[in-house]
Amino acid sequence: MKYTSPKKYYSGFEKELVHSLKTVIDSDNLILGKQLEQFEDSFARANHSKYCIGINSCTDALMMCLIASGIKQGDEVITTSITAPATIISIIHAGAIPVIVDVAAPTFCICTNAIQAAISTKTRAIVPVHLHGFPAEMEQIVRICKTNNLLLIEDCAQASGAIYKGEFVGNFGIASAFSFYPTKNIGCLGDGGAVITNNKLISKKIKSLRFYGFEEDGKIRDPGFNSRMDELQAAFLNVLLPDLDNRNNKRVSYAKKYHDIFGNYTHFLPPLIEGAVYHQFPLRVPNRKKFINKLNSYDLQVGIHYPYTMSHHPAFQKYCSNIKVAEKVVNEFVSIPIQPEILDNDFTKISNIILKCLKEQ
Ligand SMILES: *Cc1c(COP(=O)(O)O)cnc(C)c1O
Repeated sequence: MKYTSPKKYYSGFEKELVHSLKTVIDSDNLILGKQLEQFEDSFARANHSKYCIGINSCTDALMMCLIASGIKQGDEVITTSITAPATIISIIHAGAIPVIVDVAAPTFCICTNAIQAAISTKTRAIVPVHLHGFPAEMEQIVRICKTNNLLLIEDCAQASGAIYKGEFVGNFGIASAFSFYPTKNIGCLGDGGAVITNNKLISKKIKSLRFYGFEEDGKIRDPGFNSRMDELQAAFLNVLLPDLDNRNNKRVSYAKKYHDIFGNYTHFLPPLIEGAVYHQFPLRVPNRKKFINKLNSYDLQVGIHYPYTMSHHPAFQKYCSNIKVAEKVVNEFVSIPIQPEILDNDFTKISNIILKCLKEQ
């Protein structure tokens, strides 16, 4: 049984979404119009940030954050070994060299000691990822960036709405990138992404980069990209954004329930951390195959995020140093259902099945 699907998420808003499609058709303006302006305003405000720029994906958003911040060919950018390949791809397409380092317990976000060890004379930036909705160790990362004069660009694709020590993620560095891929904490009905920043110049530069490189006088000096968020996706997001907090709260409440229900077995669980938004809830199970087979025999589908570290991808192997922790935990991760569209009744059923299988582990 598949308990989670974008269909379940969106069908709860079907009327409003269909209505917003009609609004966009009637507006006769499909690119760079009022819907996008409204979304950028609301998303900036939701994140307590000054500027938001709607982009067609988080991959492009990250790449343009790097380019707009002045990353040049051959610069080194330190990032993490457990993430979506998009993080690494965006660094490569910005012309930089990814330096991929190990992760650390309990969240398995980037390891701050490993960052320190990887800094060279060519290092220009750090791209931490708030993995699975857990904020990375921002206090130490901000300190490392200040001490070494490095740019900080956060990959917030999995962490819309997450808070680290009282502050929304995405506000710690020069700019940050979000994804609205349908399974993210807030999704649109296709591809979508955004940059948030508190820096006016960066905001202007990214607005130009997403639109071929046009500047205010209509001329192009630095060639850009075609990477705008279109009006239709912005209109859908205007319907869905007001529900983000509810959805995140539901994820948090399910995370707490798992901790309550699994009592003696909480060593298999990811931690409860204030401000996390539980994009995924990855158990760590040493004998994963047997465990998943058992769950499947009860008709419960689970996921693995991710089955590979970046070192397993032939394209990225050469950028990885010693990533022993990452290589161990990716063999143990099992993402159990945490999506807010799961009904309370189903959640009880799901947790009973998982508890039974954990006991037999
Ligand atoms: C999903 C994801 C991305 C890519 O987002 P797109 O909008 O699909 O380009 C980048 N980084 C992380 C950590 C992600 O989870």
